[in-house]
Amino acid sequence: MKNLKSILVNQIKSEGPIPVSRYIEQCLLHPIFGYYTKRPIFGGKGDFITSPEISQMFGELIAMSILQTWIDQGSPSQIVLTELGPGRGTLMADMLRTFKMCPEFLEAAEIHMVEASSNLRRIQEAKLQEYKISWHEKLPSFEKRHLFLIANEFFDALPIEQFLREGDNFFKRTVKVSDGNLEFGLEKKPTKNYFLDLRLSDTSNGDIIELNLSGAKISRNIGDHINNFGGVAIFIDYGDWRSLGDTLQAVKDHEFCNVFVSPGELDISAHVDFEILALNSGCAFSKLTTQGVFLERLGITERANNLAKSLKGKALESHIAAHRRLTHPEEMGSIFKALSLFPKNSPCPPGFEQ
Ligand code: SAH
Repeated sequence: MKNLKSILVNQIKSEGPIPVSRYIEQCLLHPIFGYYTKRPIFGGKGDFITSPEISQMFGELIAMSILQTWIDQGSPSQIVLTELGPGRGTLMADMLRTFKMCPEFLEAAEIHMVEASSNLRRIQEAKLQEYKISWHEKLPSFEKRHLFLIANEFFDALPIEQFLREGDNFFKRTVKVSDGNLEFGLEKKPTKNYFLDLRLSDTSNGDIIELNLSGAKISRNIGDHINNFGGVAIFIDYGDWRSLGDTLQAVKDHEFCNVFVSPGELDISAHVDFEILALNSGCAFSKLTTQGVFLERLGITERANNLAKSLKGKALESHIAAHRRLTHPEEMGSIFKALSLFPKNSPCPPGFEQ
């Protein structure tokens, strides 16, 4: 029977090695065998659990930050509210419920979701039936209005390129076939660009670095829009300002495994380098903030205490565990980071420092 591995092996045999980005893209989004295409992922039964699935507090607090930013920018009466990669739609559902406390905001908002997987889009549509929402497979060009945008664990799912440093050159890694199996190869000619030049100062011979060039492009489009028309973008992901080494990872049934074992069955992601997203955006950006500090600044402990008042027994225990999981440095509090983009002449959004 055909599977993604045999399709890729045949393709590489006839057309030559493919860039790492192309391999990741096929694994995640292949129209028949892609991981996101096929599976009802996320939550306890999926391969991983994301912050909005852990607790409603996550979406509520982000909504509060967005709401305050909207007020700080003069409460514009027509805005675009967007989420990139909404998964099961939980984050948007929690945010929209929170926005109900400010009907003027909801009335002003035209809601757009950017989702590549038709399977997940159906789940989102079912969850968000009561709202008028437009879906897009790719970032659309928005109406000329303030843009309020959230992306949680979106950039880590975008295909990255990897480069190996040899001397003062960087060579792009590829995926090739050897003895009928997939493995890493290397382009013969070096690649040159601004972001690789930046990394000459903090890498040495033999180091691998990664560039999220599709993420950089998306960030530029968003940044240009925010500079011209106002708004804010909040990006949350696991990663750092810059990473070093091969961070590509594959997860299946909650276990890490080799990225080539069974393409299409694996969730493949890479640490997000926020530097390229920030610098390429062209607009003002906050300091990179850990998720724990970000949520703490927005008042997660007060919100958690408030919610705890109506809970007891098992429900209370899991609520306390969820609070810890989102914020504790040993859980998601440190490895996950938040970055915001905002117009050059506007205040930094709540939860962030400039
Ligand atoms: N934000 C959600 C889900 C994160 S998983 C949460 O926090 O629970 C990544 C999401 O991005 C999925 O919805 C996936 O289908 C979507 N996605 C991945 N690559 C994409 C792409 N290139 N364009 C649009 N959506 C994409």
